[in-house]
Amino acid sequence: MLDRKAFLKLLSGQVEDSNTYKSKLALLIVDINRFFRINNIFGYPAGDEILKKVALLLDNVIRDQDFVARIGDNRFALILDGVMNVGHAELAAHKILRLLQAPFVLGEQKIHVDVTIGISLCPLHASNPMFLLKECESVLHGAKEKNQKIGVSQTLEDEILSEHWDIELALDDALNNDEFLIYYQPKIALDSGGVVGVEALLRWNHSSRGFIPPNFFIPIAERMGHIKPITNWIFNTALRQGAEWTEKWGPLSISVNIPPDFILMPDLKGILSNALSLWGSDNILLTLEIVERSLVIEPEKSMAIMNELRDMDISISIDDFGTGYSSLSYFEKLPVDELKIDQSFVANVVESKSSQDLVRLIVELAHAFDMEVVAEGVEDAAVAQYLKKLKCDIAQGYYFARPMPHEQLKDWLESYAGAKY
Ligand code: C2E
Ligand code: CA
Repeated sequence: MLDRKAFLKLLSGQVEDSNTYKSKLALLIVDINRFFRINNIFGYPAGDEILKKVALLLDNVIRDQDFVARIGDNRFALILDGVMNVGHAELAAHKILRLLQAPFVLGEQKIHVDVTIGISLCPLHASNPMFLLKECESVLHGAKEKNQKIGVSQTLEDEILSEHWDIELALDDALNNDEFLIYYQPKIALDSGGVVGVEALLRWNHSSRGFIPPNFFIPIAERMGHIKPITNWIFNTALRQGAEWTEKWGPLSISVNIPPDFILMPDLKGILSNALSLWGSDNILLTLEIVERSLVIEPEKSMAIMNELRDMDISISIDDFGTGYSSLSYFEKLPVDELKIDQSFVANVVESKSSQDLVRLIVELAHAFDMEVVAEGVEDAAVAQYLKKLKCDIAQGYYFARPMPHEQLKDWLESYAGAKY
């Protein structure tokens, strides 16, 4: 891993490139809070071990074109190349925070690492490497003082407005201009290796900006009330396209992600029965993926609606399961068919005892209540094999297939002959 000196040199070069080529980059500083306590309680060797694990975790978060360095005793820096806007950089920060929710396991000890992250963009917040670093350190300190996990440099209000204004305006037209696409990612039964369904994932191919990440535009679409017509379009399109593959390759489930407050929407049942009566087929089991946090808004009402949806032969899946909120007490009342274990637990299931324990627990509970367990984010054979050993039912991830457009999915289904794990 780069040290502070090498990092400063690299940062200068990157900032210079950014100024020359008018590209953008983000600087993130990740600071471990109260690190001295880890040293005091668990000893220096444990502290060193934790630093190595954090370094490894950050290394796994970045893409090939990015860099990570250790720039202080308990401080790391990340340079993310080609970052379009603050939202993009915040996604990376949220991913780091999410991965750090699971404790590190050292022998018998479970150690939680708490971090604060500062974010500054070049050239938006500074176009000189030293100013950029200073600016980022200053927002980091500001965030710590306010007890916030992430601090972001401020931009002139109208710059932020204009960036969002563009997206908001463009979102207004995206549906009419046919800029949305659905990519489908296969779900594989771990015991047989066969395909049991697909997850529909929304893509926006903007006319001049190209593909915009869903994690960036979906929250804006939700805020602006666009998500309802978009989700309606997804139901109809996915069912229509799905009829083509299921006719040839037999029954499959199609999972559609629904936004947090959608379940409580008064006309949800109407929208669904409309789409099903137009495009539904006996070969397709429509599954709704609901994030765990949407159930905490009005649990009783949500569960009543989920029961009604199941009466319409719609299957219910809880997405990102394990990331919090649920308590065992309401588990037995959950009217759901499937639990999807969050990627952050799946990714390190082979090495991390706590992830293994969690997966084992979810599988046992799910099976006791007749639910199936899907592991998402399976990136290699070793993870697939381990999940099979833990009796997880279904897996989804780059190891089997990346999300792909409808036409490509047909070719994939035609040629898929099982996977090795
Ligand atoms: P999600 O529902 O948790 O979807 C899984 C995400 O993991 C997808 O990202 C998928 O492409 C990615 N993924 C799949 N396999 C792997 C793997 O092996 N490794 C890694 N690192 N990632 C993998 P995507 O398509 O970028 O979607 C991101 C999020 O955006 C989704 O997370 C979901 O919350 C939201 N989203 C996507 N499509 C829709 C939609 O149609 N409606 C709504 N409301 N939200 C959507
Ligand atoms: Ca999902």
